[in-house]
Amino acid sequence: MMSTDFKGMDVVSIRDFSREQIEHVLRLAEKMVPIAKGEERSVMLEGRILGTVFYEPSTRTRLSFESAMSRLGGKCLGFGEPKVSSVAKGETLADTIRMIDSYCDAIVLRHTQEGAARLAGHFARKPVINAGDGAGQHPTQTMLDLFTIRKEKKKIEGNHVVIVGDLKYGRTVHSLSEALAMFGAELTFVAPPNLQIPKEHLKAIEAMGHKPKISSTLGEAIKDADVLYVTRIQKERFPDLAEYQKVAGTYRIDMPMLKDVKPDLIIMHPLPRVGEIAPEVDATPYAKYFEQAFNGVPVRMALLGLVLGGLK
Ligand code: ASP
Repeated sequence: MMSTDFKGMDVVSIRDFSREQIEHVLRLAEKMVPIAKGEERSVMLEGRILGTVFYEPSTRTRLSFESAMSRLGGKCLGFGEPKVSSVAKGETLADTIRMIDSYCDAIVLRHTQEGAARLAGHFARKPVINAGDGAGQHPTQTMLDLFTIRKEKKKIEGNHVVIVGDLKYGRTVHSLSEALAMFGAELTFVAPPNLQIPKEHLKAIEAMGHKPKISSTLGEAIKDADVLYVTRIQKERFPDLAEYQKVAGTYRIDMPMLKDVKPDLIIMHPLPRVGEIAPEVDATPYAKYFEQAFNGVPVRMALLGLVLGGLK
Protein backbone atom coordinates (compact mmCIF):
# COMPACT_ATOMS: atom_id res chain seq x y z
CA MET A 1 0.00 0.00 0.00
CA MET A 2 1.91 3.07 -1.20
CA SER A 3 -0.86 5.63 -1.33
CA THR A 4 -1.21 8.43 1.21
CA ASP A 5 -4.96 7.90 1.27
CA PHE A 6 -5.38 6.27 4.69
CA LYS A 7 -9.15 6.60 4.94
CA GLY A 8 -10.64 3.53 6.63
CA MET A 9 -7.22 1.89 7.05
CA ASP A 10 -6.24 -0.22 10.09
CA VAL A 11 -3.01 0.82 11.80
CA VAL A 12 -1.68 -2.45 13.15
CA SER A 13 2.04 -2.79 12.45
CA ILE A 14 4.71 -0.37 11.36
CA ARG A 15 5.42 -2.85 8.56
CA ASP A 16 2.12 -1.82 6.98
CA PHE A 17 3.63 1.60 6.20
CA SER A 18 6.17 2.78 3.66
CA ARG A 19 8.69 5.46 4.46
CA GLU A 20 6.74 7.91 2.27
CA GLN A 21 3.55 7.21 4.18
CA ILE A 22 5.21 7.74 7.55
CA GLU A 23 6.80 10.96 6.28
CA HIS A 24 3.34 12.10 5.21
CA VAL A 25 2.00 11.51 8.75
CA LEU A 26 4.96 13.39 10.26
CA ARG A 27 4.45 16.37 7.95
CA LEU A 28 0.76 16.59 8.81
CA ALA A 29 1.57 16.18 12.50
CA GLU A 30 3.80 19.26 12.36
CA LYS A 31 0.83 21.31 11.18
CA MET A 32 -1.23 19.97 14.10
CA VAL A 33 1.13 21.29 16.80
CA PRO A 34 -0.64 24.64 17.41
CA ILE A 35 -3.99 22.82 17.69
CA ALA A 36 -2.45 20.20 20.00
CA LYS A 37 -1.20 23.04 22.21
CA GLY A 38 -4.64 24.67 22.27
CA GLU A 39 -3.34 27.78 20.47
CA GLU A 40 -5.56 27.19 17.43
CA ARG A 41 -8.98 25.60 17.13
CA SER A 42 -10.24 22.92 14.77
CA VAL A 43 -13.55 21.19 14.16
CA MET A 44 -12.11 18.74 11.65
CA LEU A 45 -13.55 15.68 13.43
CA GLU A 46 -16.73 17.26 14.75
CA GLY A 47 -19.46 14.63 15.09
CA ARG A 48 -16.95 11.75 14.92
CA ILE A 49 -16.52 9.27 17.79
CA LEU A 50 -13.40 7.32 18.72
CA GLY A 51 -13.69 4.10 20.74
CA THR A 52 -10.79 3.60 23.16
CA VAL A 53 -10.63 -0.02 24.28
CA PHE A 54 -7.84 -0.70 26.76
CA TYR A 55 -7.25 -4.16 28.25
CA GLU A 56 -3.91 -3.02 29.71
CA PRO A 57 -2.87 0.05 31.72
CA SER A 58 -2.10 3.23 29.83
CA THR A 59 -1.56 6.89 30.62
CA ARG A 60 -0.02 8.57 27.58
CA THR A 61 -1.45 6.53 24.74
CA ARG A 62 -5.07 6.62 25.84
CA LEU A 63 -5.08 10.20 27.08
CA SER A 64 -3.17 11.59 24.11
CA PHE A 65 -5.65 9.89 21.76
CA GLU A 66 -8.48 11.43 23.79
CA SER A 67 -6.80 14.83 23.76
CA ALA A 68 -6.19 14.56 20.00
CA MET A 69 -9.82 13.66 19.35
CA SER A 70 -11.17 16.45 21.61
CA ARG A 71 -8.85 19.08 20.12
CA LEU A 72 -10.24 18.20 16.68
CA GLY A 73 -13.83 18.54 17.85
CA GLY A 74 -14.56 14.81 18.14
CA LYS A 75 -15.55 12.64 21.11
CA CYS A 76 -14.39 9.40 22.74
CA LEU A 77 -16.07 6.49 24.45
CA GLY A 78 -14.69 3.24 25.76
CA PHE A 79 -12.96 1.77 28.78
CA GLY A 80 -9.50 2.03 30.29
CA GLU A 81 -9.87 -1.14 32.32
CA PRO A 82 -11.59 -4.34 31.13
CA LYS A 83 -12.95 -5.14 34.63
CA VAL A 84 -15.56 -2.40 34.25
CA SER A 85 -16.82 -3.85 30.95
CA SER A 86 -18.49 -7.12 29.96
CA VAL A 87 -15.00 -8.53 29.37
CA ALA A 88 -15.20 -9.32 33.12
CA LYS A 89 -18.28 -11.46 32.37
CA GLY A 90 -16.34 -13.44 29.78
CA GLU A 91 -17.21 -11.59 26.58
CA THR A 92 -14.85 -12.42 23.71
CA LEU A 93 -12.67 -9.83 22.00
CA ALA A 94 -14.62 -10.42 18.80
CA ASP A 95 -17.96 -9.56 20.41
CA THR A 96 -16.63 -6.56 22.33
CA ILE A 97 -15.08 -5.18 19.14
CA ARG A 98 -18.28 -5.76 17.13
CA MET A 99 -20.21 -3.73 19.70
CA ILE A 100 -17.78 -0.80 19.96
CA ASP A 101 -17.60 -0.82 16.17
CA SER A 102 -21.30 -0.06 15.99
CA TYR A 103 -21.00 2.85 18.47
CA CYS A 104 -18.10 4.77 16.91
CA ASP A 105 -16.10 5.67 13.79
CA ALA A 106 -12.68 4.23 14.70
CA ILE A 107 -11.30 2.02 17.47
CA VAL A 108 -8.03 2.32 19.39
CA LEU A 109 -7.21 -1.02 20.99
CA ARG A 110 -4.60 -1.99 23.56
CA HIS A 111 -4.51 -5.66 24.43
CA THR A 112 -2.40 -8.17 26.32
CA GLN A 113 -2.08 -10.56 23.37
CA GLU A 114 0.17 -10.17 20.35
CA GLY A 115 -1.96 -10.19 17.22
CA ALA A 116 -5.10 -8.90 18.97
CA ALA A 117 -5.29 -5.70 16.90
CA ARG A 118 -4.98 -7.61 13.63
CA LEU A 119 -7.73 -9.94 14.79
CA ALA A 120 -9.93 -7.03 15.90
CA GLY A 121 -9.52 -5.56 12.43
CA HIS A 122 -11.32 -8.61 11.04
CA PHE A 123 -14.35 -8.03 13.27
CA ALA A 124 -14.57 -4.27 12.87
CA ARG A 125 -15.81 -2.45 9.81
CA LYS A 126 -14.26 0.77 11.13
CA PRO A 127 -10.50 1.38 11.28
CA VAL A 128 -8.67 -0.29 14.18
CA ILE A 129 -5.56 1.41 15.55
CA ASN A 130 -3.15 -0.76 17.51
CA ALA A 131 -2.21 0.96 20.77
CA GLY A 132 0.03 -1.95 21.79
CA ASP A 133 -0.61 -5.68 21.47
CA GLY A 134 1.27 -7.60 24.16
CA ALA A 135 4.94 -7.81 23.25
CA GLY A 136 4.05 -7.21 19.60
CA GLN A 137 3.92 -3.74 18.09
CA HIS A 138 3.15 -0.14 19.02
CA PRO A 139 3.06 1.69 15.68
CA THR A 140 1.67 5.05 16.84
CA GLN A 141 4.41 5.26 19.48
CA THR A 142 6.92 4.72 16.68
CA MET A 143 5.48 7.57 14.67
CA LEU A 144 5.76 9.93 17.62
CA ASP A 145 9.28 8.68 18.32
CA LEU A 146 10.28 9.38 14.71
CA PHE A 147 8.59 12.79 14.91
CA THR A 148 10.63 13.58 18.04
CA ILE A 149 13.96 12.51 16.50
CA ARG A 150 13.27 14.49 13.35
CA LYS A 151 12.26 17.56 15.32
CA GLU A 152 15.30 17.44 17.59
CA LYS A 153 17.88 16.26 15.06
CA LYS A 154 16.42 17.71 11.84
CA LYS A 155 16.68 14.29 10.20
CA ILE A 156 16.56 10.61 11.11
CA GLU A 157 19.00 9.24 8.56
CA GLY A 158 22.60 8.85 9.72
CA ASN A 159 21.86 9.22 13.43
CA HIS A 160 23.34 6.60 15.72
CA VAL A 161 20.45 5.39 17.87
CA VAL A 162 21.33 3.29 20.91
CA ILE A 163 18.32 1.36 22.18
CA VAL A 164 18.69 0.01 25.69
CA GLY A 165 16.61 -2.08 28.09
CA ASP A 166 14.09 -4.80 27.43
CA LEU A 167 14.33 -5.41 23.70
CA LYS A 168 12.68 -8.82 23.89
CA TYR A 169 9.32 -7.83 25.34
CA GLY A 170 9.39 -4.09 24.56
CA ARG A 171 6.84 -3.57 21.79
CA THR A 172 7.88 0.06 21.25
CA VAL A 173 11.36 -1.19 20.31
CA HIS A 174 10.01 -3.81 17.92
CA SER A 175 8.18 -1.19 15.87
CA LEU A 176 10.78 1.55 16.24
CA SER A 177 13.90 -0.44 15.35
CA GLU A 178 12.46 -1.53 11.99
CA ALA A 179 11.27 1.98 11.21
CA LEU A 180 14.66 3.47 12.09
CA ALA A 181 16.37 1.02 9.77
CA MET A 182 13.93 1.99 7.03
CA PHE A 183 14.86 5.66 7.61
CA GLY A 184 18.61 4.89 7.45
CA ALA A 185 19.59 5.31 11.11
CA GLU A 186 22.50 3.34 12.59
CA LEU A 187 21.45 1.03 15.42
CA THR A 188 23.03 -0.40 18.55
CA PHE A 189 21.00 -2.73 20.74
CA VAL A 190 22.02 -2.90 24.40
CA ALA A 191 20.30 -5.50 26.59
CA PRO A 192 21.06 -8.44 28.87
CA PRO A 193 21.59 -11.47 26.56
CA ASN A 194 18.20 -12.99 27.46
CA LEU A 195 16.37 -9.73 26.63
CA GLN A 196 18.08 -8.93 23.33
CA ILE A 197 16.21 -7.93 20.20
CA PRO A 198 14.28 -10.93 18.81
CA LYS A 199 15.72 -12.60 15.68
CA GLU A 200 12.61 -11.76 13.67
CA HIS A 201 13.30 -8.02 14.01
CA LEU A 202 17.05 -8.37 13.58
CA LYS A 203 16.50 -10.27 10.34
CA ALA A 204 14.10 -7.64 9.03
CA ILE A 205 16.66 -4.93 9.84
CA GLU A 206 19.49 -6.86 8.19
CA ALA A 207 17.33 -7.44 5.13
CA MET A 208 17.26 -3.64 4.76
CA GLY A 209 21.08 -3.71 4.49
CA HIS A 210 21.95 -2.76 8.08
CA LYS A 211 24.41 -4.36 10.49
CA PRO A 212 23.26 -3.29 13.96
CA LYS A 213 25.70 -3.63 16.88
CA ILE A 214 24.63 -5.88 19.73
CA SER A 215 25.97 -5.40 23.24
CA SER A 216 25.12 -6.03 26.87
CA THR A 217 26.97 -2.97 28.16
CA LEU A 218 26.16 0.67 27.65
CA GLY A 219 29.54 2.22 28.53
CA GLU A 220 31.09 2.49 25.04
CA ALA A 221 27.90 2.76 22.99
CA ILE A 222 26.59 5.77 24.91
CA LYS A 223 29.65 7.89 24.01
CA ASP A 224 28.93 7.62 20.33
CA ALA A 225 25.12 7.94 20.53
CA ASP A 226 23.11 10.72 18.91
CA VAL A 227 19.92 9.30 20.38
CA LEU A 228 19.67 7.15 23.50
CA TYR A 229 16.32 5.35 23.60
CA VAL A 230 15.79 3.93 27.07
CA THR A 231 13.11 1.36 27.85
CA ARG A 232 11.57 -0.23 30.93
CA ILE A 233 12.05 -3.91 31.70
CA GLN A 234 8.54 -5.20 30.97
CA LYS A 235 7.88 -6.87 34.32
CA GLU A 236 4.33 -7.89 33.37
CA ARG A 237 5.55 -10.04 30.46
CA PHE A 238 7.94 -12.24 32.44
CA PRO A 239 6.56 -15.75 32.92
CA ASP A 240 8.74 -16.06 36.04
CA LEU A 241 9.14 -13.12 38.44
CA ALA A 242 12.50 -14.49 39.63
CA GLU A 243 13.82 -13.98 36.08
CA TYR A 244 12.63 -10.36 36.20
CA GLN A 245 14.39 -9.79 39.55
CA LYS A 246 17.67 -10.89 37.96
CA VAL A 247 17.57 -8.16 35.31
CA ALA A 248 15.62 -5.37 37.07
CA GLY A 249 17.81 -2.30 37.48
CA THR A 250 20.50 -3.49 35.03
CA TYR A 251 20.69 -0.10 33.29
CA ARG A 252 20.25 3.25 34.92
CA ILE A 253 21.04 6.55 33.25
CA ASP A 254 22.38 8.99 35.81
CA MET A 255 24.70 12.01 35.74
CA PRO A 256 28.03 10.09 35.89
CA MET A 257 26.88 7.98 32.90
CA LEU A 258 26.50 11.19 30.87
CA LYS A 259 30.05 12.44 31.47
CA ASP A 260 31.46 11.69 28.00
CA VAL A 261 28.38 11.82 25.78
CA LYS A 262 28.02 13.95 22.64
CA PRO A 263 26.89 17.48 23.55
CA ASP A 264 23.80 17.18 21.36
CA LEU A 265 22.75 13.72 22.57
CA ILE A 266 19.02 13.34 23.09
CA ILE A 267 17.56 10.88 25.59
CA MET A 268 14.15 9.41 24.85
CA HIS A 269 11.91 6.96 26.73
CA PRO A 270 8.40 5.81 25.79
CA LEU A 271 7.55 6.03 29.53
CA PRO A 272 6.62 5.06 32.16
CA ARG A 273 10.12 4.98 33.66
CA VAL A 274 10.59 2.94 36.78
CA GLY A 275 14.13 3.86 37.72
CA GLU A 276 15.91 3.64 34.32
CA ILE A 277 16.53 7.40 34.23
CA ALA A 278 17.52 9.25 37.38
CA PRO A 279 15.35 12.34 38.03
CA GLU A 280 18.47 14.61 37.95
CA VAL A 281 18.71 13.87 34.22
CA ASP A 282 15.37 15.64 33.63
CA ALA A 283 17.01 19.05 34.04
CA THR A 284 19.74 18.37 31.44
CA PRO A 285 19.37 19.46 27.80
CA TYR A 286 19.61 15.79 26.81
CA ALA A 287 16.22 14.89 28.31
CA LYS A 288 13.48 14.87 25.66
CA TYR A 289 11.08 12.26 27.04
CA PHE A 290 8.42 14.68 28.20
CA GLU A 291 8.41 16.54 24.86
CA GLN A 292 8.28 13.11 23.22
CA ALA A 293 5.13 12.26 25.21
CA PHE A 294 3.51 15.55 24.17
CA ASN A 295 4.35 14.80 20.53
CA GLY A 296 1.90 11.90 20.78
CA VAL A 297 -0.94 14.42 20.53
CA PRO A 298 -0.13 16.05 17.14
CA VAL A 299 0.97 12.71 15.67
CA ARG A 300 -2.25 10.99 16.76
CA MET A 301 -4.26 13.96 15.49
CA ALA A 302 -2.69 13.50 12.07
CA LEU A 303 -3.38 9.76 12.09
CA LEU A 304 -6.99 10.20 13.23
CA GLY A 305 -7.53 12.86 10.58
CA LEU A 306 -6.16 10.49 7.95
CA VAL A 307 -8.04 7.32 8.87
CA LEU A 308 -11.29 9.17 9.54
CA GLY A 309 -10.98 11.04 6.29
CA GLY A 310 -10.67 14.64 7.51
CA LEU A 311 -7.10 14.88 6.18
CA LYS A 312 -5.48 13.84 2.92
N1 ASP B 1 4.08 2.72 27.37
C1 ASP B 1 4.85 1.85 26.52
C2 ASP B 1 4.02 0.65 26.08
O1 ASP B 1 2.84 0.60 26.34
C3 ASP B 1 6.16 1.47 27.12
C4 ASP B 1 6.11 0.68 28.41
O2 ASP B 1 5.04 0.35 28.92
O3 ASP B 1 7.20 0.37 28.91
O4 ASP B 1 4.55 -0.21 25.43
